[in-house]
Amino acid sequence: MPELPEVEVVRRGLERWVAQRTVAEAEVLHPRAVRRHVAGADDFTHRLKGHRVGVPMRRGKYLWLPLEDANQSILAHLGMSGQLLVQPHEAADEKHLRIRVRFADDLDTELRFVDQRTFGGLSLHDNTEDGLPDVIAHIARDPLDPLFDDEAFHQALRRKRSTIKRALLDQSLISGVGNIYADEALWRARLHYERPTAGFTRPRTTELLGHVRDVMNAALAVGGTSFDSLYVNVNGESGYFDRSLDAYGREGLPCKRCGTPMRRRPWMNRSSYFCPKCQRVPRVSS
Ligand SMILES: [Zn+2]
Repeated sequence: MPELPEVEVVRRGLERWVAQRTVAEAEVLHPRAVRRHVAGADDFTHRLKGHRVGVPMRRGKYLWLPLEDANQSILAHLGMSGQLLVQPHEAADEKHLRIRVRFADDLDTELRFVDQRTFGGLSLHDNTEDGLPDVIAHIARDPLDPLFDDEAFHQALRRKRSTIKRALLDQSLISGVGNIYADEALWRARLHYERPTAGFTRPRTTELLGHVRDVMNAALAVGGTSFDSLYVNVNGESGYFDRSLDAYGREGLPCKRCGTPMRRRPWMNRSSYFCPKCQRVPRVSS
């Protein structure tokens, strides 16, 4: 799954190449790609037609294109392998092209949704008062959002009878932090993933949020150099930036801080990578 920085790079590409363009027509080549649009493919294409695309928006890993004068948005689900491509009209159709959107202007490009495994797709939703597609109204702001409330997050941590990695991946508390960035931020903060959140002090929360933002911004800085080419081409499957990781995937390799071999433990159907010396297992309190 793409994480927040990858999705943000797609958003920036779409802002540059698709925003303010009016849809001439949309074409659904595979019905599975619009299965989340309950009213069906014909309704989907009919509703898009003639609407101008606003500035693409993102919250956490969710990406949407507002339709001006419609109070609706196209929500993109990238899934495991979904790609949003901006291609010249004359470019051959991709083997797994699922949806094509043509625009009513003289630019020679169109928007394509390509998805090998068709877990992803596009769907239209009404907007909430905040301008979010209604189906993601429960998703919390992400840590790169200027309106993210650090203090409210800290208070929620204190209230929750939870552990820190579980809380970081809780999309109703903080969105956009996936397994990789959680492990990276916890390594930087020297926190074990099972540390109870109830005992977090404000400075500890502030420091951890700082690390979360740093790892995301570092990934964005790497990926941000690739969207400047003519065509948006970010693959949800292999789209992780070539970034250096300090924790994730480094089982058995020396901790970059203390040299102790890093460990991997199964964690909620995933893995957690950590340094057993820098990130001590919390003592069990009764
Ligand atoms: Zn270490």
